[in-house]
Amino acid sequence: MMSSAQFEGRRVLITGGGSGIGADMALAFANAGAQVMIAGRRAAALEETASKHKAIRFQLADASDEHSVIGLFEKAGPCDIVIANAGIAASAPFTKISMDDWNQMMAVNLTGVFLTLREGLKQMGDWGRLISIASIAGLRGYGYVAHYCASKHGVVGLTRALAMELGKRDITANAICPGYIDTPMTVRSARNVAEKTGKDEGEAKSLLASGSPKKKLIQPQEITQATFWLCGPGSGNINGQAISINGGEF
Ligand code: NAP
Repeated sequence: MMSSAQFEGRRVLITGGGSGIGADMALAFANAGAQVMIAGRRAAALEETASKHKAIRFQLADASDEHSVIGLFEKAGPCDIVIANAGIAASAPFTKISMDDWNQMMAVNLTGVFLTLREGLKQMGDWGRLISIASIAGLRGYGYVAHYCASKHGVVGLTRALAMELGKRDITANAICPGYIDTPMTVRSARNVAEKTGKDEGEAKSLLASGSPKKKLIQPQEITQATFWLCGPGSGNINGQAISINGGEF
């Protein structure tokens, strides 16, 4: 049973909290009684999310930079729930992926999750929840996004391995693997498809959604609900899972 104080007393840290899923989760956890710290690189986006609830604080941080993430957790203090959500996406034919493209993707999507969960776990007490936002692209391949797929497969592997190390403390580590979600990232992908195919943006969004049997974009709230479940009562034995939220696409 959900109450407005479900997460009263919990301290939550969310990277990439200025937009999309991260912003939705931040507001939902704050509404459920938690103290929330969000992080990202754009002050204006973070400020906008934080302005929606007094329990949301923000800190500028680059998830791919070790010193920046260490500084973030020094500011945040010990957290009970750490959600490594920051990520980027890009597409290119395999032979056109440059070293810079590859390195940037790995730095944000994979190293960023590693650093966030490592620093989060260092300060965690006896109860904690570590959640990484991976992707269905962490579980199967797609054309023209080899670097994104590789980074997200890495996130799933890292999370599964971490889950094996957590021992008897009531701490779990799980990955969430969404399909296309209705967020700014998908808007950018749809624009890219539109540019390349001559379709309008709405058609391009439908094309992206068409890979799912449900033929619909996932809503950010659906991801947020999954994180609530992973942090809620009775969740202590859900550990090392890669939870698909993608309308049944495999
Ligand atoms: P989004 O609105 O673009 O959010 C991504 C967030 O990550 C932004 O707030 C961005 O903030 C932050 N970020 C990017 N690079 C960062 C860095 N180096 N350091 C700190 N923060 C950084 O898109 P979203 O859909 O909500 O994405 C959230 C997560 O879901 C990502 O990991 C994404 O891969 C994953 N996902 C998305 C979809 C989808 O269809 N949208 C599907 C599956 C998985 P700043 O730019 O301010 O840094």
